[in-house]
Amino acid sequence: MSTVEILGTAQDAGVPHLGCRCENCETARADPERTRYASAILLEDDGRYLFDATPDVRFQLTEIPDGAFLTHAHLGHLTGLLYFGRESVDADELPVYATLGLRDVIRENEPLGSLVDDRNVDLRSVVDDAAVPLTEASVTPFRVAHRESLPTGTLAYRIDGPNRSLLYASDVDTLTERVESLIRDVDVALVDGTFWSRDEIDRVEDVPHPTVSSSMDALADADTEVLFTHLNHTNPLLDPGSDARERLESAGFRVADRGDSIEL
Ligand SMILES: [Zn+2]
Ligand SMILES: [Zn+2]
Ligand SMILES: [Zn+2]
Repeated sequence: MSTVEILGTAQDAGVPHLGCRCENCETARADPERTRYASAILLEDDGRYLFDATPDVRFQLTEIPDGAFLTHAHLGHLTGLLYFGRESVDADELPVYATLGLRDVIRENEPLGSLVDDRNVDLRSVVDDAAVPLTEASVTPFRVAHRESLPTGTLAYRIDGPNRSLLYASDVDTLTERVESLIRDVDVALVDGTFWSRDEIDRVEDVPHPTVSSSMDALADADTEVLFTHLNHTNPLLDPGSDARERLESAGFRVADRGDSIEL
């Protein structure tokens, strides 16, 4: 059997968010139960595979995994890779899967390049729609649109277990036809839930994400169990007593929580 454990559910910078005094952030500072780590999951097959190397990885894992799948080159998804280096656990050729472009960026730029020179990581490039077989499960990367200015690209991952399938799409700019069909094709989907609505931040056009409320409309008739993750500190869904949370749950959707586990 394969199991996916949810390790983190926040936008890259976590909750609380540095420099922010909003109610969600102040609540999280006062109550550790309300802190959220950056979005990541762990697949347990015969081995243990991390998806997204977050700056919170030292709280999310207690041991070196057997492999790590990277989605893209932003703060919450890449920088945790440094914890596999000599200043930390000094991993021994940890297989790290990424796009060809991201593989080259890691190899050629410090401080990440030292991970390759010191053989802490063994970089492996993945290709759109080409499955990586593990023991029981298989992992298939799909290119998704997210900040086209990022030349290294962005991936969502589909995990097929012996019985069920899961999509991990932590960061997408919009719910394109492709993303929507990837969601509809699986049993469980972890979907970009950064913002509930477009009025949460001033510069929303600079950081496009599908709003949770629009995704709920688009996916209302989907058979997939949809959990929203990658929540920004401004998102009212962070408050379990909010009207937004009530609307989400009464429509049959959920907010992903750290510690949730999903059997595949
Ligand atoms: Zn992100
Ligand atoms: Zn805040
Ligand atoms: Zn991103």
